[in-house]
Amino acid sequence: MQINNSHKLHSGSLYWPTTLSHVPSYPALQGHITTEVAIIGGGITGALCAAVLARAGIPAVLVESQRVASGSTAANTGLLQFSNDKMLSELADKIGETDAVQFYGECRKALTRLYKLADEIPYDTGFHVRSSLYCASTSSDVPRLFKEYSMLRKHGFPVEWGSPHNTGHHLPIRKPAALVTHGDAEINPIRFVHGLIAEAAHKSAHIYENTVVEGVQRMGDKFVITTDFGEIIASRVVRAVSDVPGIESSSRIKPILKRSYALVTPANSLPASWPYDCMMWETARPYFYFRTTPDRRIIAGGMDEDQADPVSDANFLLNRTRLLLEELRGLFPDKQWEAEYAWCGTFGESADDLPFLGETSEQPGIFHALSCGGNGTVYSMIAAEMLRNRILGLEHPMLALLSPERPAHPNSSAVNTI
Ligand SMILES: Cc1cc2nc3c(=O)[nH]c(=O)nc-3n(C[C@H](O)[C@H](O)[C@H](O)COP(=O)(O)OP(=O)(O)OC[C@H]3O[C@@H](n4cnc5c(N)ncnc54)[C@H](O)[C@@H]3O)c2cc1C
Repeated sequence: MQINNSHKLHSGSLYWPTTLSHVPSYPALQGHITTEVAIIGGGITGALCAAVLARAGIPAVLVESQRVASGSTAANTGLLQFSNDKMLSELADKIGETDAVQFYGECRKALTRLYKLADEIPYDTGFHVRSSLYCASTSSDVPRLFKEYSMLRKHGFPVEWGSPHNTGHHLPIRKPAALVTHGDAEINPIRFVHGLIAEAAHKSAHIYENTVVEGVQRMGDKFVITTDFGEIIASRVVRAVSDVPGIESSSRIKPILKRSYALVTPANSLPASWPYDCMMWETARPYFYFRTTPDRRIIAGGMDEDQADPVSDANFLLNRTRLLLEELRGLFPDKQWEAEYAWCGTFGESADDLPFLGETSEQPGIFHALSCGGNGTVYSMIAAEMLRNRILGLEHPMLALLSPERPAHPNSSAVNTI
């Protein structure tokens, strides 16, 4: 049996769209429009860029080929963390301790700014500050996790150590040890994107849905962005999508596309024993993780696979959903678990686990905003502020480290290929 994967970035039954009582809509672009910045892609990255530019008074047009927040963003499970898929201690081995610590620090600051944005837009975005329980998957992972705890602590990140032998931090699930980071958050990604886009549109941005960008061409000091029924003339272009016709992308700055799985349990299924302000993930790769919702559901995910397309076979998705439920049963054996929603979605990664943000010398004026990795939303926030600073002629501390032209680090696995 085949399942609906018409969006090509996810398949199965999504949870977030069911949390919207009204879906705001925007017209398709017909004819010509001139602006300062053309943003291609109406996911979380494009929405954050549109909102941050609108707040800075910079004119922008955002075009989305389908509906706003219908791509990878709709499949996002909404965990916002300053810790990354690559531990700080491992990133330090790869890119040096100074850069790694600065990067983690910028992710933490980006979280604070996401909080401020979510708080200020007149929309319930489901943003709640949470702690994260980062568990050792096996006893052999405990020393590695303790090394991570020590490095986070050394550099002043808000972290605690917990193990069954440490009665001060009793673990609520069966794991050999864990560290707890504070100041992370959860969000409803679709509501957040709609709130950002609505605010940007209210201020000055022009938003177009059902508008496919078919080409980007430089004409003197401007770009001509051709869409299916119109044209945008802009001084700058933001690539908030993995591929755009007309934007050359060396194999190095092409995200490696992967797929991941997620499920949502019924309302009020969260065990009373679970501390409500805590999310959970683990040291195994790929890792299993979960968060909760205000109506006491669990959103669990994991089992990343090296496949670009979301699964199209319903039985395959069912099988993966059962495996995720088994993981939950392993943590909470006293409970019968079931999934009310389950899906598979595509996301991008990079060889060195860092996003590609900024312009290249080959294509000045085209800003790449490729938020690779499981921490995509935090990276998108950094992208939006880096873009704004670039336009205003201001520095950004992550410009060199996250540049699409950064040298491949000797310890990185490889140059990206799809
Ligand atoms: C199962 C799963 C769980 C995840 N969980 C998390 C999480 O907990 N936390 C987190 O931070 N990240 C998470 N991610 C990653 C996160 O979803 C992505 O980093 C993020 O959504 C990427 O947003 P985006 O705006 O860059 O891309 P998208 O949301 O994919 O947006 C790109 C948009 O561009 C549009 N588009 C494409 N081509 C064109 C064109 N030619 N013209 C116009 N528009 C075009 C698409 O329709 C799409 O809407 C998860 C991903 C998956 C799959």
